[in-house]
Amino acid sequence: MGDLTAEDRPHASCCERRPHAGALPPAIPGFSMTSSPPTPNFTPGPTPNGHLAPRPASLFAARARRLRELAADAALADWLRFVAHLADAQADVQRLLDEDIRAAGCLDAAGHLDLVRLPALPLWQRAAVLLAERIAAVDSPAAAKAARALLALDDGTREALALRVLGGETRAEDLHGAPLACAALELLATGAAALARPQIHTGIGKSCPVCDGPALVATLETSATSGLRYLHCAHCNTAWHHVRAQCTHCHDARGVSYQSLEKAEEIPLWRAETCDACHAYLKLFDRTKVRELDPVADDLASLELDLALGEAGYRRTGANAYLLLLGEHAGA
Ligand SMILES: [Zn+2]
Ligand SMILES: [Zn+2]
Repeated sequence: MGDLTAEDRPHASCCERRPHAGALPPAIPGFSMTSSPPTPNFTPGPTPNGHLAPRPASLFAARARRLRELAADAALADWLRFVAHLADAQADVQRLLDEDIRAAGCLDAAGHLDLVRLPALPLWQRAAVLLAERIAAVDSPAAAKAARALLALDDGTREALALRVLGGETRAEDLHGAPLACAALELLATGAAALARPQIHTGIGKSCPVCDGPALVATLETSATSGLRYLHCAHCNTAWHHVRAQCTHCHDARGVSYQSLEKAEEIPLWRAETCDACHAYLKLFDRTKVRELDPVADDLASLELDLALGEAGYRRTGANAYLLLLGEHAGA
């Protein structure tokens, strides 16, 4: 476990909210703090897109590649490879069901996606079974258990499991079936979100503009997508713009700082934005450093940062449903 290091307030372009000009937040006892000098000048920044729609045709295959790359030198390599198998299956089933998902009319008249309606659809049941059949073919005991658990359920029990996954209320007996239920939900939600045209946000919304899901992580995007911070939905993979230097949970700007495990000269790929007003944090990944990063994959691979932040008294605001099977792979 590495120590956290904290940076000065994040830099901001003129179209984002400037950080508070007061003193640095107090140091966390037991953790060393480093600060970077303030940005001397603010130059005009690009106008943000209100949201970035997911691209389901390429998203899952790209996630599988990223997970395998991250697994190469990760302590939890088996677990990351299991989620990579899930992403492979999602890519395969997405191709198979693409037209059906488009035709399913998952969005309501206002263009909003009601996630709790998805498990009641026969299409969701079909996606879950197709995913399980593909996972059953993977040479891994954990994959076989997951597939067996999901396929053993009748439709009603499977639907109830999916609703518990959405509500964050899974039980011990859900451990093996939950990742597949979650993967099927994500498949349909992402396909629906690709068709959504949500209202442009003002840059301070903490919930997904398509499905009201929580932000899983944030990314600092490349100049091709405005070079600004976007939050990523934990359910439908929609990203939406949010100003920097402001807590995404309570909107406080004075207690915000960045923390990371490395005492790097450069800004690291994985950081967390912490808030000393509400003690929440959200991880921030820098796509200008690794264009191929995937919010879900990089979130799982940076678990050590979550553990350090938890020890420092911060709480996470958005859960990664693929964490549900971690205990199996970590031997817990
Ligand atoms: Zn969403
Ligand atoms: Zn806050």
